[in-house]
Amino acid sequence: MLVVNTIAEVRAFIKARRREGKTVGLVPTMGYLHEGHASLIKKCREENDIVVVSVFVNPSQFGPTEDLEAYPRDFDRDCALCESAGVDIVFHPEPTEMYKTPKAYVNISTLSDNLCGKTRPVHFCGVCTVVCKLFHITMPDRAYFGQKDAQQLAIIKKMVKDLDFDIVIVGCPIVREIDGLAKSSRNIYLSSAERKAALCLSSSIKKGESMIIKGMKSDELIDAMRDVIEAEPMARIDYVSVVDAFTMKDVETIDGSVLVAMAVYIGKTRLIDNFSFEV
Ligand code: AMP
Repeated sequence: MLVVNTIAEVRAFIKARRREGKTVGLVPTMGYLHEGHASLIKKCREENDIVVVSVFVNPSQFGPTEDLEAYPRDFDRDCALCESAGVDIVFHPEPTEMYKTPKAYVNISTLSDNLCGKTRPVHFCGVCTVVCKLFHITMPDRAYFGQKDAQQLAIIKKMVKDLDFDIVIVGCPIVREIDGLAKSSRNIYLSSAERKAALCLSSSIKKGESMIIKGMKSDELIDAMRDVIEAEPMARIDYVSVVDAFTMKDVETIDGSVLVAMAVYIGKTRLIDNFSFEV
C-alpha cells in the first residue's frame, strides 16, 4: 500500500493504473477510521481494481466555533486498517496542499439549506468543494459515501448530476454498534454517561421506524421521536425532521421517498442519525 501526501503523487499513481485499463474507486474520509468507513472500503474493494482512500480533516467544512482542532486523528491506525482492508493508495494531504489561494467554491445551495445545513451554514459548501477537488484529483469510476450522512450523500449525488461528473456514487448502509449507536469518529468525545445517553438517538430511530406508515402526518412521527429523546436529560435536540429524500425539503405527510433525520447534542457532542422510508 502506498501512502502519499501530494496531489502530483496520487495523480501519477492513478494515471499509470488507468493506462493499464484498471478501474478506480474512491472512499473520501476524515480519518479516525472505524467499521463504518471499513464497510465503504470493503464495497469499494469488491467493485474496483484500484482502491483509493483519502484521509483529510477538511478545514473548510468546519464553522469557526466547531471542533476542527479537537477532531480525533490517528493516522498510523488508519493506515493499518487500510492496509488490512486491501487499499492500494492512501492520500493524506496537508491543508496547504489542498487549498492554495485563491479558492473556488462549489455550492449546491437548495439541498444545503435544511437539516444540518441550517445549523452548520458553511458545512456543505466545504464538503462539496473538497469532494469536487478529490474527484478531479483521483478521477474515480465510483465513489463511496455512507447513508449515515444522508444529506451529504444526497448533495453529492446532485453535485455529480448537475456538474456532469462521470462518476457513480455508491451509498452504503449505516453501520452501528451492537447496542444501536451509529458508529462515528465523534463517539470518542462521549464520557461513559454520555455514551449511554447517546442511545436515545437510535431508540428514537427505532420508534420512528416502528410507527411510520404511508399517509401519516410528519408531525405525529416527529413528536413521538422527540419524546424518546427528550426523556434523556443529557440530550438537547438540534432537529428532528421529515424531508423529501431528494430535495431535502420538509414534508407534511409521509409519501414517496422520505428521509427522517435528526441531530442531537449529547453534552457538547453533536451526533446525527437517520432512516429512510419509501412508500
Ligand atoms: P467521515 O470520515 O466522518 O467524513 O466519513 C467518511 C465517510 O464514511 C462518509 O461517507 C460517511 O457517511 C461514512 N460513514 C461514517 N460513519 C459511518 C457509519 N456508521 N456507517 C456507514 N458509513 C459511515
